[in-house]
Amino acid sequence: MCLIFTCGEHTFRKEVEGFEGIVCRCYNCGNYAGSVLKSNPWFTFCFIPIVPLSIHGYEDITCRICNFQQPLAHRPDVIALKHGGNGQPGVPLQDHGGAHQGAATGGKPNQGMTYG
Ligand SMILES: [Zn+2]
Repeated sequence: MCLIFTCGEHTFRKEVEGFEGIVCRCYNCGNYAGSVLKSNPWFTFCFIPIVPLSIHGYEDITCRICNFQQPLAHRPDVIALKHGGNGQPGVPLQDHGGAHQGAATGGKPNQGMTYG
């Protein structure tokens, strides 16, 4: 009688709360294809998850193009996006039209918009 047991590892991934829909730049391939995903590796036995290898999991920037993964802790720019992109958590939000300010100046030449 011969039994074959297969042990392995399976990683469950899900979006991190507060980072849903945020797309950031991948530092490996340069594309804006990085998503913040939480990885929870599990030890599997006969393809059945048995034991979690990490209690809290890992939060990574995962690129959907090149599959490059980078720890979220190394991307303060992405963490800042979670706070609304202004880097000032705790500042009360204005009305929802605030994002449009300065967009309708009209008549002025579009100077000063060069990117270095
Ligand atoms: Zn990439």
